[in-house]
Amino acid sequence: MRAQHASSYARYMATSASNGIRTEYRTCHLCEATCGLELHLDARAITLVRGDRDDVFSRGYLCPKGTALKQLEADPDRIRRPLLRDGDTFREVTWDEAFEAIDAGLTPIREQHGPDALAIYLGNPNAHNLAGLLYGRVVLQSARTKNIYSASTVDQMPKQVSAGLMFGGALTIPIPDIDRTDYLLMLGANPYASNGSLMTAPDFPGRLQALRARGGKVVVVDPRRTKTADEADEHLPIRPATDALFLFALVNVLFADDLVDLGDVADSVNGIDDIERLAAAFTPEQVGPACGIEAGTIRRIAHELLAAPTAAVYGRIGTCVQEFGTLVSWLVDVLNVCTGNLDRPGGAMFTKAATSPATIGQPKGKGRGVTFGRHASRVRGLPEFFGELPVVCLAEEIETPGDGRVRALITIAGNPAVSAPHSDRIQAALPTLDFMVSIDIYLNETSRHANVILPPEPELARGHYDTALYNLAIRNVANYSPPLVELQPGEVPEWRTLLRLAGVLGGQGAHADVDALDELLASQLVRRAVGRRGSNVEGRDADELMKTLATRRGPERLLDITLRTGAYGDGFGSDPDGLTLAKLEANPHGIDFGPLQPRIAEVVRTATGMIELAPDACQADVERLRAALDRPLARDGGPLVLVGRRDLRSNNSWMHNLQVLVKGKPRCTVHVHPDDAARLGVHDGVDVRVSSTSGAIVLPAEVTDAVMQGVVSIPHGWGHDVAGTQMTTATKNAGANSNVLARSDLFDPLSGNAVFSGIPVEVAPVEVAPMEVAAV
Ligand code: SF4
Repeated sequence: MRAQHASSYARYMATSASNGIRTEYRTCHLCEATCGLELHLDARAITLVRGDRDDVFSRGYLCPKGTALKQLEADPDRIRRPLLRDGDTFREVTWDEAFEAIDAGLTPIREQHGPDALAIYLGNPNAHNLAGLLYGRVVLQSARTKNIYSASTVDQMPKQVSAGLMFGGALTIPIPDIDRTDYLLMLGANPYASNGSLMTAPDFPGRLQALRARGGKVVVVDPRRTKTADEADEHLPIRPATDALFLFALVNVLFADDLVDLGDVADSVNGIDDIERLAAAFTPEQVGPACGIEAGTIRRIAHELLAAPTAAVYGRIGTCVQEFGTLVSWLVDVLNVCTGNLDRPGGAMFTKAATSPATIGQPKGKGRGVTFGRHASRVRGLPEFFGELPVVCLAEEIETPGDGRVRALITIAGNPAVSAPHSDRIQAALPTLDFMVSIDIYLNETSRHANVILPPEPELARGHYDTALYNLAIRNVANYSPPLVELQPGEVPEWRTLLRLAGVLGGQGAHADVDALDELLASQLVRRAVGRRGSNVEGRDADELMKTLATRRGPERLLDITLRTGAYGDGFGSDPDGLTLAKLEANPHGIDFGPLQPRIAEVVRTATGMIELAPDACQADVERLRAALDRPLARDGGPLVLVGRRDLRSNNSWMHNLQVLVKGKPRCTVHVHPDDAARLGVHDGVDVRVSSTSGAIVLPAEVTDAVMQGVVSIPHGWGHDVAGTQMTTATKNAGANSNVLARSDLFDPLSGNAVFSGIPVEVAPVEVAPMEVAAV
């Protein structure tokens, strides 16, 4: 059968070649897994997408979203030219007209009301976008506003905060060494649907299967029996938002049974006594009823973690978007440390990305650590984290009159009208802005409020390199994808758009010299590397180095500088075997630098130079967690609570306009346990009203025991039935926006992250409670 398939594929290839169809390779940018794609192109059109079997990392794996790249590139609803608002509609304009309108709209607001009158929101796709990552920060710097927001505070900020507090950097996140571990304890993660997050691992499901095949064990802790839980050795259903209690109880057992073993990092750890003291209050017997997990099971899991030759604990989205997000994220790594699994093969390790700076001879240990709250939001006084304010503040900063009110907004590949908590409040606030600019591929729920919309160029017309995600990969890898098609007249690379926008914000008007700005950026990057102690170009002549880059411009030049001065770089010729962009161009399937290596001394950059196992901020928040022990469960008269849900064919709000991904039965349903359904009079397939103190939505119920009793589950990113968008397929498959139910006053105080999991809700059949759906 396989041979038959191979020969028909060979015939197909021969026919394709004779028809002028060419084969190219490219890294998929649609999720964090970074799979290699084999693309068949007829001029600019994709005719076929397959997994690249020679990709050094993904080895041919791809998911349905990857194949949808063809539809995404060809989507007739995509914006191809700048749009300018004209009353209630938009009209296509030239780039010059668009930027003149932006300058005329933004500049007077900022001159009259100050830089903070402008807010900027960065969406999740920026993490997958070379131009966005390299040039987005220039826009932020030019804006000089404290009102910077991103999808980070509706997603992973708790993990960044805990990593910062413990290890000294926002991306110093230990990654489970999944290919070598013997035991994986996963909380709030469903990689069979997500393909991994804060853990770049193409074919995550295959790697889990391999783990089990070599005799290892996978344990999934989740309120839902997800596909991942189904495929695991053991599933522990847990009451939402009690993961921190469960993890604390595991730590408690390690101390009580004298099992703590810090392993190779023992000399690098501060605070172990504090951990023992804090964990004392969380015995398995105390936390078991709150979590819904028996004390004996908690004890067994703690012993298994210790007994396994190697083990790793991993928590993801479900652990971050709860009210104790930072505590859970912290305790995940406390366990990795206390079981001796941090920074050792098979444990939780630190990736050495090719873009991380070379540190030849650099002193190890002490750094600046992290500082939060360098400024605060105007209305509520919430602190910044890593330079941004929590999204839970955005609506009130627009709504609330007074000095410093946000009057203008730039969104870059972001859709806060759908993805932010209490999102109908954001939707009501956006039209009150004086001016708004969106960089987006769609006229969507957010960009419909913009005065000007600027489209990026087609994906295939740009280079791609995952500068962010390779920092979190389970192997040390690098892979660059060059542009595969030429730009057409009227298409402008996003990096030029971002620099031109930075020019407006920097006071250079609508016609800033983009090439001069790019030259300046590249020169600054080289000079920083030359001036950095321990760099592989320390003390070299920056002008001479710049000359060697003469043929490159834009993201490729910045990337080349970063790679050549990076961990495997050639140091601009000082190591002829070292990495350059040219070397990656010559290796279209990527370069594998091997499995992760122990490197604790070179990654820890706290002020003490030690792993801070018990940061003050975490210690101070433990009392709040202790109070959660006494909350009533749904079966004892407490409320139903809401959790999210991920689908393999969806990625937040931005994959719903592709028929190939939304076809089939509706996926935006609310899962209700049969016992709850019987109690509430809810029937499978029939609409129900789900309400919280923030709002209400109506959507079909799906009665299933895949969700715990007392818990309901709705996927997020839906709710496309609003007027004024241009997303034909999404509108027909609108679904309901579950983030209407999330409260903007409910967040994790240590990170400012919004809470989407564990929200109290009521569920009622629509025919029993025929109330009009509206915000309450
Ligand atoms: S798993 Fe992610 S990276 Fe891989 S093909 Fe699917 S969407 Fe693309």
